[in-house]
Amino acid sequence: MAAPAAANNQKKISYRAKEVTKCPVCGTTHFKEELLSGSGRLIAGKLTQELQRLYEDNKKWGKINPLVYHVQVCPKCLYAAFPKDFTTLLSEEILALKNTTSHRQKVVETFFGKYDMGDNRNIVHGAISYMLAVDCYHLRGNQIAPTPKKAVAAMRSAWLLDDLYKEANYRPYDKLRDFYYVEAARYYKRVLDTMTSGVEPMEEAAYVLGPSLDFNWAFDGVIYLNSYLTRKFIDQMATNPKDKYTIMGASRQYLSKLYGSGKSSKSRPSVIIDMAKELYDEMGKMMEKFRIEYDPVFAEQKAKEAAEAQALLAQSQGKP
Ligand SMILES: [Zn+2]
Repeated sequence: MAAPAAANNQKKISYRAKEVTKCPVCGTTHFKEELLSGSGRLIAGKLTQELQRLYEDNKKWGKINPLVYHVQVCPKCLYAAFPKDFTTLLSEEILALKNTTSHRQKVVETFFGKYDMGDNRNIVHGAISYMLAVDCYHLRGNQIAPTPKKAVAAMRSAWLLDDLYKEANYRPYDKLRDFYYVEAARYYKRVLDTMTSGVEPMEEAAYVLGPSLDFNWAFDGVIYLNSYLTRKFIDQMATNPKDKYTIMGASRQYLSKLYGSGKSSKSRPSVIIDMAKELYDEMGKMMEKFRIEYDPVFAEQKAKEAAEAQALLAQSQGKP
């Protein structure tokens, strides 16, 4: 049943851009949907351990997640990019994106059924837009720094899929969510490893790092999230304890730079340093466990230390 026009207007949370966008891949035109701001549409809630800004449920406007509107998507060929990158395609990128159109359509249909990306967005469109962005940035050249953009898009895919999972848990969105978390961990690591190499001009991606829209944690966020996700998904990232130890060690090394800096500032609120320190300690304990599993000499030494500590304890308790 159609709602009366007045009520529709009252509930208006978005508008269409006045300027038309012509898709550089297939030539289809669309008007990008943008979120209206103000009038209490967004009430900021807490910041999660994943640096995700939550928003309070809103009686007047319903549930709004600004992330949903961010990525630009062609409704026809499903080419997706952050708005600044949408029209800056090179000819070989256009060709690659053209050749993969049916693949993108199939991915969307497999997980979500028939979905019109030209409609006003809800959370499903949001999740699809970031999943498509990850796919499309695979086909972009280094000049626009695709790796950090894939990392952020994968992270936000995971968040929106988690929202979907909570709303409709009869679908396997949790598996898809975890897939994107692991992807994000890997891309963040790749950003850290290549940051100083100059292969990708990282400044091209600085504005998009977020990972939420209210604050840009910039490269501190990249370091922190790489460690956070590696700790959380280490079992999906490697199967044997030695590989787990190596992967976690590399991430923790980067983390030590963040937490070792110690100083907070306006661009580096103390909350991230506190979280980094906690994470650093936890990862140290996990690494010790992995090493015990694959290194018998280390395991023996640790067992000896534990026995000695036990004996000392017994001794001190025995004294009056
Ligand atoms: Zn298109």
